[in-house]
Amino acid sequence: MTSRREHEPTQDARKPARYSMTHASPRAIPWRKRPEREELRAIYREVDALLDGYACDASTDCCRFGVTGREPYVTEVELAEIRAAIAENGGHRATRKRSLEIAGERRCPMLTAAGKCSIYAARPLGCRTFFCDASLKKMGAKLPRVKLQALVRAIDALSEKAFVRGEDSRPLTQALSSHSSK
Ligand code: SF4
Repeated sequence: MTSRREHEPTQDARKPARYSMTHASPRAIPWRKRPEREELRAIYREVDALLDGYACDASTDCCRFGVTGREPYVTEVELAEIRAAIAENGGHRATRKRSLEIAGERRCPMLTAAGKCSIYAARPLGCRTFFCDASLKKMGAKLPRVKLQALVRAIDALSEKAFVRGEDSRPLTQALSSHSSK
């Protein structure tokens, strides 16, 4: 059903303004102090408002990648927000300790043993728009695809603006492992 992201971004020819290379690298500024953090949160609020009434029922269907065959892709800004949330939770090791790994399930490292997302407020767009069978049944034809696509593009543009040499979106676990090893 999905390939790259739940809502595949289309190429936007209009590139957003980027940081001037003559100024200090924005990477030197901690994510929690970056203005883009609030921009990302504002976009997430828009997504949540669009999907109000069809909220995730916490089935955690989308958190077992080996079961669904799907894994959310994340941009650099989404990853920065996830990493901040992980740090606030005590770091990667603390999160992993809480996760019960069952062979073949490929559980998301942020899924707790109690079956909750440990970074729920910071979860990426792919998790917010997974649309499991239960939520699709509730939404049906009301799924605001066009508006969601616009918000996907807004996050991609924000990521390009925030990270000059940002990488393309990557599978969540791959992105996390490359960053956690840095
Ligand atoms: S980030 Fe949270 S909602 Fe998304 S897959 Fe992981 S545990 Fe599930």
